[in-house]
Amino acid sequence: MPENVYHLLMPRVFDANKKVIVDECGISWRRPELESLIDNIASVLLDAGVAPGDRVGAKTEKSVHSFCLYLAALKIGAVWLPMNTAYTQAEVDLILSDATPKVLVWSEPMNLKHTTCLTMAADGSGTLMQAAVQDSKGVRTVCRHSQDLAAILYTSGTTGRPKGAMITHGNLEFCAATLAHVWGVTSGDTLLHALPTFHAHGLFIAANTMLAARASMIFLPKFDPEKVLSLLSKATMFMGVPTLYTRLLANERFNAELCKNIRLFTSGSAPLSAETFAEFKARTGHTLLERYGMTETTIITSNPLSDERVAGSVGYALPGVSIQARRQDGRIAAVDEVGELVVKGPNVLKGYWNLSEKTAAEFTSDGYFKSGDLVRIDKHGRVWIVGRNKDLIITGGYNVYPREVETALSRYSAVRDCAVIGVPHADFGEAVIAIVELNDTANFDAKSTIGDLSTQLAKYKIPKEIFVVPSLPRNAMGKIQKNVLKDEFSSTFSCKA
Ligand code: AMP
Repeated sequence: MPENVYHLLMPRVFDANKKVIVDECGISWRRPELESLIDNIASVLLDAGVAPGDRVGAKTEKSVHSFCLYLAALKIGAVWLPMNTAYTQAEVDLILSDATPKVLVWSEPMNLKHTTCLTMAADGSGTLMQAAVQDSKGVRTVCRHSQDLAAILYTSGTTGRPKGAMITHGNLEFCAATLAHVWGVTSGDTLLHALPTFHAHGLFIAANTMLAARASMIFLPKFDPEKVLSLLSKATMFMGVPTLYTRLLANERFNAELCKNIRLFTSGSAPLSAETFAEFKARTGHTLLERYGMTETTIITSNPLSDERVAGSVGYALPGVSIQARRQDGRIAAVDEVGELVVKGPNVLKGYWNLSEKTAAEFTSDGYFKSGDLVRIDKHGRVWIVGRNKDLIITGGYNVYPREVETALSRYSAVRDCAVIGVPHADFGEAVIAIVELNDTANFDAKSTIGDLSTQLAKYKIPKEIFVVPSLPRNAMGKIQKNVLKDEFSSTFSCKA
């Protein structure tokens, strides 16, 4: 395997005429054009004194230019430090003081004492590209080892300080090469890329895999359902988070005809409901392929390409990845028993930046990374996620796994999406409540739904209250922010207990 992942993403042998990326305006980027942009950017970074191991930070809109900035950083052995475009100044300050980048590229001018600050607008223009106009072909690809850092991604940690996950060249190589193989990606594929590139899903799982397979991408700056519908027929692959699929399904124009050239739709980053899975199949004829990963571990499991894809399961551990469900006491859970998923393999991060104690605490004594996800693994080795460890609700001494209650609620046609959380309760310790988002025209009665649920769920699992909200709080990846809901609804039972 190549040691600097850049060699895998931009192989030495290539077809100079192939359109590697087509941007939103229909402009094609072939390999020589991309390489010259990468080299021009790399030379600016080198002029700014960036040495191997130095961090290059970016809070830029998704574009071919910002993607080439990432590739330029990898090429010269720097460590890529992407930031969510939605981060507040306080969040950015925290990351900057922790990761201390040598160069920071932002859409706005910044002034930092020990960092060279450059700008890049959504169209790529700005001080970085002004400095990069000269032709600087031939920037050398710096030799890196598989254990060397390629990127630091701050986790979207819902509690406490965000942590910098140290991702190595070896992690990225494994992720891109394995997915290209198990998803059968070839140079004949074109991915309609609509995910953000500051997150592992859009960058490492989507973009890197396509580059490693010498496939093509149509690069959308963001997910826009109308744009996706108009471009789907030009693509063979689409990767999304579940909300992207529910938004596509909400559009009447989305149908099998538009999807007829697509060979693979994948879903990940958040739970995909059985209803969305079934509706997608009915509308398009395609079976969504659900896969599971996290910032710290790039990719862990996937449903198979050619075997049965089962709704609600995230599939099997990828080749070379070892997973187990562990009980609280650290022993391996029985088949189908719920436990925390632990994972070991070339996909697992090196550790958390500047947090050696936290790193040690997140690994078991035999070297498995603790995912924080509660799962059960069935007799076939299929993984079923039941929720996050910290979202487990203990009510009156009974464990309630939110996913089970959410699955029951999702079966009501009026419910577009829902979140089940535990809130303080004087008698039960925690009480189960649900917060639901309804379909536009829906008729919904919370009381009768609670009554009806008693035919499906044990009494202790049934929400004591169901609250209707216009829209559930979500992060940039479409994941429902349960911590926000827990704060908002924390006093639900404060006067009732
Ligand atoms: P992130 O680090 O932002 O990628 O978030 C990782 C977390 O997202 C995992 O630990 C899971 O809790 C969740 N996740 C990722 N993929 C899936 C999936 N297919 N189904 C359910 N949850 C998922």
